[in-house]
Amino acid sequence: MTDVLGNPPPPSDSLAVLEKQRSTAETFGIPLAVLLEITHRCPLQCPYCSNPVELDRSTKELTTDEWKKVLGELAEIGVLQVHFSGGEPTARKDLVELVRHASDVGLYTNLITSAVLLTRAKLGELADAGLCHVQISFQGIEEGLTDRVAGYKGGHRKKLEVAKWTRELDLPLTVNAVMHRQNLHQLPEIIQMAVDLDADRLEVANVQYYGWALKNRAALMPTVAQLDECTRLVEEARERLKGTLAIDYVVPDYYALRPKKCMGGWGRQFFNISPAGKVLPCHAAESITGLEFESVRSNHSIAWIWQNSEAFNRYRGTGWMKEPCKSCEFREIDFGGCRCQAYALTGDAANTDPACALSPLHETIFKQAEAEAEGETNRFLYRNFAGGTLESENGA
Ligand code: SF4
Ligand code: SF4
Repeated sequence: MTDVLGNPPPPSDSLAVLEKQRSTAETFGIPLAVLLEITHRCPLQCPYCSNPVELDRSTKELTTDEWKKVLGELAEIGVLQVHFSGGEPTARKDLVELVRHASDVGLYTNLITSAVLLTRAKLGELADAGLCHVQISFQGIEEGLTDRVAGYKGGHRKKLEVAKWTRELDLPLTVNAVMHRQNLHQLPEIIQMAVDLDADRLEVANVQYYGWALKNRAALMPTVAQLDECTRLVEEARERLKGTLAIDYVVPDYYALRPKKCMGGWGRQFFNISPAGKVLPCHAAESITGLEFESVRSNHSIAWIWQNSEAFNRYRGTGWMKEPCKSCEFREIDFGGCRCQAYALTGDAANTDPACALSPLHETIFKQAEAEAEGETNRFLYRNFAGGTLESENGA
């Protein structure tokens, strides 16, 4: 048997296997880590969820065998790491089997979870199956707010418990905290919580406004003053906790002068696979209508889809750009920002991301966001399969 490049089977020595996979990935320009959204089912209803507004129903999800085939193919083309995500990945009954298979084919595995469905026994099974890392998302620091944000009762205590079990099982832990106007005041305690939980890493991720978050922008957008304070706190904590806790920091790009290099540039450093098996340049990409995304159920290999499919090539590089990006000196630095945000806010994914100060729409959108941040809207539209449910007047 040979691999996709016609090479003989990999040697058994694991370092040699990794080296071979890396060089195969380099040949294809394939990302070394891939996000697998194995289901959109989730008991929580976060108003900023990065899943598309049109969620994939369970009947469309890839089967266990289909996911196993995907995992084998990813390892074969040189991917080294997979993130099992969702929705809530533990909602799938076959997660242990999938993690075991990923581990058997030589992939490093990370579980991105809300943790509320996990038991101590299940986490132990996942660890035994070869799980390498756990990332748990938190909505805040206490039950009242976290229940409200997640649209789910009692989750916070469970998350703390699962974080403790994770460390008892000697698995590395990342705490993910999605920040917005209604929880930014809890950031100092969230940082301390990550230290107390013995996490290796904390992600302070300000909400990015597309999909569900765009629908909830007026309830989530922080003020400029809040954001400045958040940045100050993160910088102070990074210095103070050097060697104890690594802190990643993502700012909302509405308040930036230049957009972020979204996904490292379309089709350059990232792809994810949706529950139904679509191979996507970013998890929000299906929000751009008019693009056809190939599926792992098609006759094409994942490497072919990455290299040749129309959707990956549409916004790859700089050839698709219009002005002001086309002649801008930063075009190969930020690749024009986020295609999904450009589409959501301007109706054309080939326009400059309005987060950029050079976009003709930047001023209008920034002012609108600033007004929303100072406004009275606090009620959430919860993310769910019903297309969203508005929070009741007196809370979830
Ligand atoms: S963001 Fe919230 S609702 Fe969305 S998948 Fe994660 S836990 Fe579930
Ligand atoms: S005009 Fe385009 S390339 Fe230039 S900084 Fe703005 S988004 Fe980036």
